[in-house]
Amino acid sequence: MTVPTVSCTNCGKNFTTDDLRGTNCRYCGTLFAHHARAAQQVAVVNQMLADRNGNGIPDAFEGIVANAQANAMNQAFGMNANPYTPYNPYNPHGQPGPMMGPAIQIHNAHMQQVAHATRTANKTVTIAIVAAVLVIMLSFGIGIASMLLVG
Ligand SMILES: [Zn+2]
Repeated sequence: MTVPTVSCTNCGKNFTTDDLRGTNCRYCGTLFAHHARAAQQVAVVNQMLADRNGNGIPDAFEGIVANAQANAMNQAFGMNANPYTPYNPYNPHGQPGPMMGPAIQIHNAHMQQVAHATRTANKTVTIAIVAAVLVIMLSFGIGIASMLLVG
């Protein structure tokens, strides 16, 4: 009766069952293929579970978590729809009147958030305009200076 033998992929020596208990070839030191594969899989899993910025969320899942949070925010604050006041053609802007309790608070929080976003956007636009004006003035200045120098 012959036991199927496993031989080293590197040096070709046959392994005994004792040899196979190790992780490396007893003769040449090559890492056993099945151990290499397992180590590779462990490395991949460890990589996926690595939390480099230490926020408690594995990096591989941060995109998913961020998406979930964005979706939850959209639903809570109704960026696209208004889940707490159904559309009313006689009150299209959802006047605060009919809203009660937590809904009005959520609505106010939403409005504050929108107002903040609008202020931030305005600031960005203002900075952009100021920067553009400075660039225009600067190029005019260079133009005039070069005209004076050439003329
Ligand atoms: Zn070997």
